[in-house]
Amino acid sequence: MKVENWKGTISYHPHSVEKVTAVEDIVRIVRDTTRYPSPVRAKGSHHSTTKCIVAEGGTVLDMTAMNRTLHIDKEQMTITMEAGKLHLDAARELEAAGLQFYVNVEIGNMTVGSGACCGTKDASYFSGGAWEFGQVASYVVGMKLVQADGSILEVTEESDPELMVLLRSSYGMLGVVYEVTFKVKPLQAMKFEHRAYLVDEFADKLDSLVKQDKSMMLYLFPFRNRVVVEYRSDGEGSPRSGTWQWAMRNYSWKTISPAWGKVVTRFIPGKWLKSKLVNVFNFFVQLILVRLIRGSAVSPADQIIRYPEKAGFASYTFSIWSFPMEEYPETIKAYFKFCRDYFQETGYRCDMLNVGYHIAQDNSSLFSYTRKGPALTLDPVSTGSAGWPEFLTAYNEFCGLHHGTPLFNQTRGITPAQAKMAFGEEIGIFQNHRRQMDPGGRFYTPYFQYLFE
Ligand SMILES: Cc1cc2nc3c(=O)[nH]c(=O)nc-3n(C[C@H](O)[C@H](O)[C@H](O)COP(=O)(O)OP(=O)(O)OC[C@H]3O[C@@H](n4cnc5c(N)ncnc54)[C@H](O)[C@@H]3O)c2cc1C
Repeated sequence: MKVENWKGTISYHPHSVEKVTAVEDIVRIVRDTTRYPSPVRAKGSHHSTTKCIVAEGGTVLDMTAMNRTLHIDKEQMTITMEAGKLHLDAARELEAAGLQFYVNVEIGNMTVGSGACCGTKDASYFSGGAWEFGQVASYVVGMKLVQADGSILEVTEESDPELMVLLRSSYGMLGVVYEVTFKVKPLQAMKFEHRAYLVDEFADKLDSLVKQDKSMMLYLFPFRNRVVVEYRSDGEGSPRSGTWQWAMRNYSWKTISPAWGKVVTRFIPGKWLKSKLVNVFNFFVQLILVRLIRGSAVSPADQIIRYPEKAGFASYTFSIWSFPMEEYPETIKAYFKFCRDYFQETGYRCDMLNVGYHIAQDNSSLFSYTRKGPALTLDPVSTGSAGWPEFLTAYNEFCGLHHGTPLFNQTRGITPAQAKMAFGEEIGIFQNHRRQMDPGGRFYTPYFQYLFE
């Protein structure tokens, strides 16, 4: 049996895939080590871009049928769901109830169970006079898990805040999450607009741009020397849902950009002509973003995208590292140069624009990439054309040299040395707890063994 991630860039062969519909199914499977060999791995929508999903020869628990919302509590401001619920479906239910998530990541297909225990990213939002976190798991206030011996563990932020820090970064290694409770907030209209900068100007002004107290997502154009910033902030009045501006932005990002990149890469001869055509397309993307894509009172859920079940012709993949904010002005300029130098040397460049996010300091999870301070990311994006894996190896080396921090489910191809450079101390802490909670390694996979040992 072969299982692939969404984009088909990673595949593995488990012993079996079990579609679970209730916690009793999970308990039964976890307890029966003969019929269901280790490692036991929960499966969400498999949108991860690393081998964190791999359970070679093991047992995969498909969580997607456990997708009910159990309770929306308007007094406590929480939502409790089964772990296989999709982020976008939950966001729309909250919207109907006059509520919203704090973090609305673009990937609507992400299951909330994965969001609760893995790395995620969205530009931090500024509201009520403070920066909010940019990681989904940071707003998880309760989790229920099936542990390695089949027993149930219920933890809340109140009962055990230290354990919550570990669980929010557990990537399935401390138990199978079957129920999660997120803190939510009242639905707030969002204003958004785009501004373009030359990269030098952006780097020089970064400090003052951040001090505007607006959420900042970046569109990066290393071959055009430009950065477009998507600013998001609180708007006035009641939020409108389903606006054409977000629909257009999302359709272009999800379908038109990768389709263009794929056609150019496949059918146009010569690296210079290919590159020129990607640049021309990106010029129009910039123009449309800056001139047309804005709104004064939209619903935050509009920024979440529902991707097709399976990646088709027009689909993309990406990677990510985050960097200390104070070094980012130099890092982004060096990254643009790195991309151009790499193209000169090898003929490879990303056939889509790149992105980045400004994310607030956050100690809510052990493997948070902003534990030491606020950070910005550099996320190359590509249709996954020939040369992409080799590019990522060079990019990972670049990021390691620039004090980058990876995400175990989204940064492809990192080495143990790179993992330890970013999280040496945290890996030690995690391993101590993991050995106590799962002495037989029921949930421990070769990918994490490789990175952690
Ligand atoms: C096109 C695309 C766009 C993306 N955009 C974004 C984005 O904007 N922001 C962002 O943060 N991420 C983004 N991602 C990455 C994606 O959100 C993460 O990789 C996320 O973890 C995927 O969730 P999933 O449900 O598909 O989990 P999977 O990929 O199936 O699993 C991820 C990990 O979580 C574990 N896991 C899953 N469910 C459970 C559970 N119930 N209990 C315990 N462990 C579990 C798995 O074992 C695995 O280790 C994007 C990915 C793609 C392909």
